[in-house]
Amino acid sequence: MSHPGATPSDRHRVVVIGSGFGGLTATKALKRADVDIKLIARTQHHLFQPLLYQVATGIISEGEIAPATRVILRKQKNAQVLLGDVTGIDLANRTVKSELLGHTYITPYDTLIVAAGAGQSYFGNDHFAEWAPGMKTIDDALELRGRILGAFEQAERSSDPKRREKLLTFVVVGAGPTGVEMAGQIAELADHTLKGAFRAIDSTKARVILLDAAPSVLPPMGEKLGKKAQARLEKMGVEIQLNAMVTDVDRNGITVKDPDGTTRRIESACKVWSAGVSASPLGKQIADQSDAEVDRAGRVKVLPDLSVPGYPNVFVIGDMAAVEGVPGMAQGAIQGGKYVANTIKAELRGADPFEREPFDYFDKGSMATISRNSAVAKIGPLEFGGYIAWLAWLFLHLIYLVGFRRKLTTLISWFATFVANRRGQLTITEQQAYARIRLEELEEIAAAVEGEKAAS
Ligand SMILES: Cc1cc2nc3c(=O)[nH]c(=O)nc-3n(C[C@H](O)[C@H](O)[C@H](O)COP(=O)(O)OP(=O)(O)OC[C@H]3O[C@@H](n4cnc5c(N)ncnc54)[C@H](O)[C@@H]3O)c2cc1C
Repeated sequence: MSHPGATPSDRHRVVVIGSGFGGLTATKALKRADVDIKLIARTQHHLFQPLLYQVATGIISEGEIAPATRVILRKQKNAQVLLGDVTGIDLANRTVKSELLGHTYITPYDTLIVAAGAGQSYFGNDHFAEWAPGMKTIDDALELRGRILGAFEQAERSSDPKRREKLLTFVVVGAGPTGVEMAGQIAELADHTLKGAFRAIDSTKARVILLDAAPSVLPPMGEKLGKKAQARLEKMGVEIQLNAMVTDVDRNGITVKDPDGTTRRIESACKVWSAGVSASPLGKQIADQSDAEVDRAGRVKVLPDLSVPGYPNVFVIGDMAAVEGVPGMAQGAIQGGKYVANTIKAELRGADPFEREPFDYFDKGSMATISRNSAVAKIGPLEFGGYIAWLAWLFLHLIYLVGFRRKLTTLISWFATFVANRRGQLTITEQQAYARIRLEELEEIAAAVEGEKAAS
């Protein structure tokens, strides 16, 4: 084990885990503070997750939504960015353990900000992940792009009508904002962007199914907006199947249980999972070492000042924290990050940690796009949909993207997609198209060899 090679300093040491909305905001807000910050994250970029589905469906490139964290923080001299997977937090000894390609590093802290976010949840059926990837990382989005476009490519080469049908059936599980956006964009890709680009198949005949165990679309946005979104999707040809519980997922499709208890199959080569989230397992580690509890989604039940009970120097923010009235959305993490940074700064100036004002979340509303020219938005008591909501969505997402050049190129990509029906990112590499299949073949060969060895 090695200790970090940074220069020793007497300054207050802040360790931040995660370079997402929470971790990056907290770090930036400590820019002028008299502290030494180490930001440790398993990805070298800051990811703007709300636009991942646009990477998956070829509208924008991954660079547009995932700038390198160290470049964002280049001018912030009190912050060092460290790549590594945090595998351990030791609350008693105030250290964080991280790993990078077989090397282990121990980083001591005075204050710890844990913002490791959430991963996809398959509700105990983790084997579904192999056949229905979620959408949490750039790797996920590129994998899905490979699967979506790869399915069209294979359908063009197939002369078997049944196989073609399976290849041209896309199932999105989970009718929350991500599922709605994904289903809408696959439908637009098939109906507009790819129209006329194939000779043996008609891409506009592709079937897009959006499926959920819940009885409505977009449940967090309320009945009125849910119905609006549903009607718009149906107009675009998306099949919506509600009260439909997925009981199995395999290479060739999914098995669904309906409310009357009957089960049925949907043959589909390309499945997308956007049905649930579960917080980083680091939350459970914190709970095991403190009086904190985790909720069913693995989120840490923090105190009103976002700290861990018994550890006023350890904060959990963003998707990892369970705070009454704070949704698992970017604003929750951003505002949490700012609040914690301000708390640290105030206490460096002598404020009493036992007199902290509680974190006060300001709800700025939520929105989801359905297709070009159509979105739904909920801002305070206001609920609206259609073109105005879509323009508001475009504007807000542009504002929150990091960097002027990135905003500009994204705007150009959007213009090309939404006005001219062209997508600039329809490339899939050989790796993306074949690597997973080849890996599966290798695994099957390895399993067969193991079986033969065991039998002899
Ligand atoms: C597809 C999708 C669409 C979304 N759309 C919207 C939207 O439209 N509007 C909205 O408000 N919200 C949206 N959200 C939710 C929003 O993105 C999250 O609420 C927000 O990112 C939470 O911020 P965070 O800092 O808690 O975690 P994240 O932004 O997820 O960041 C977590 C960070 O921790 C790092 N990390 C994780 N585990 C480890 C580890 N063990 N060691 C080191 N580093 C680690 C990750 O690499 C990452 O840098 C969407 C989310 C997804 C997935």
